Amino acid sequence: MADFLYICNDCPRSCNARRTFYTSTGYCKAGLLPVINRAAPHFWEEPCISGKSGSGTVFFGGCNLKCVYCQNSIISRAPKGKVYTVDELIIKIKDLEAMGVHNINLVTPTHCTYAIVEALTKYRPSVPVVYNCGGYESVETLKRLDGLIDIYLTDFKYLCSDTAKRYSKAPDYPEMVKAALKEMLKQTGTPVFGRDGMLRKGVIVRHLVLPSNIDESIKIIDYLDREYGNKILFSLMHQYYPAGDAQEYPEINRRLTKHEYKKVLNRLFESSLDGFVQDSDSAKASYTPKFDTDSN
Ligand code: SF4
Repeated sequence: MADFLYICNDCPRSCNARRTFYTSTGYCKAGLLPVINRAAPHFWEEPCISGKSGSGTVFFGGCNLKCVYCQNSIISRAPKGKVYTVDELIIKIKDLEAMGVHNINLVTPTHCTYAIVEALTKYRPSVPVVYNCGGYESVETLKRLDGLIDIYLTDFKYLCSDTAKRYSKAPDYPEMVKAALKEMLKQTGTPVFGRDGMLRKGVIVRHLVLPSNIDESIKIIDYLDREYGNKILFSLMHQYYPAGDAQEYPEINRRLTKHEYKKVLNRLFESSLDGFVQDSDSAKASYTPKFDTDSN
């Protein structure tokens, strides 16, 4: 493949970055070809994604958000490790399929959209493809994925611009995630399950509850309930622990209290949202996969 210059505005950062296969001037610091830090069956996603045989996760290095509390900061701050060509990415996908996974789960994929579109246009796996993203997506870029992605598994992190600015340097996150979610649902439609109980198509919206930010979590539940109800699946995450640079933000430099989580849970149970809740014992660093930051 001959290298070329790509001017990147693929996510709402709209860096107008100069990206080649291996270099970038953009916020995500990622070249066009992906760094894959881990590709293996994963058993700790929602039950309709992980099932018995695991989800075929492909963890990409780098990120367009870089939240201060990121639990994967070892691989998200900047892509480190082996660069994969599009054909090598296809081989990784085929390897995972051969292991009998329920789906191909592209984790933190946004800045890798160029390679993902190339790969999935050349090769469509026989199992659903999951786009497992942070929710800071541009609608134009999502349109390039239309017909290639079966399941969107997206975060909905913030509804307040100040919070999005403080923790993710993305004050426009709320308006971007709202527009992105609309487009995702337009592409997949409402949830469709196979006879084995596994999700075949649809949107799962994840929300990680942050300590001291309970009112915002409740507002997010209210928003999703009002706008989408049971057209989407909702997944409430309890796994927060201070990671990354969280110690520099005193209000989130601790775990959630039981009282905080219960308040959010109570509102969720009053809503019409359907989906999943995480147990309170999930807030452990051991839930973070072991990444290989040098090679794969
Ligand atoms: S994908 Fe990376 S380079 Fe492109 S706009 Fe987003 S942060 Fe900037």
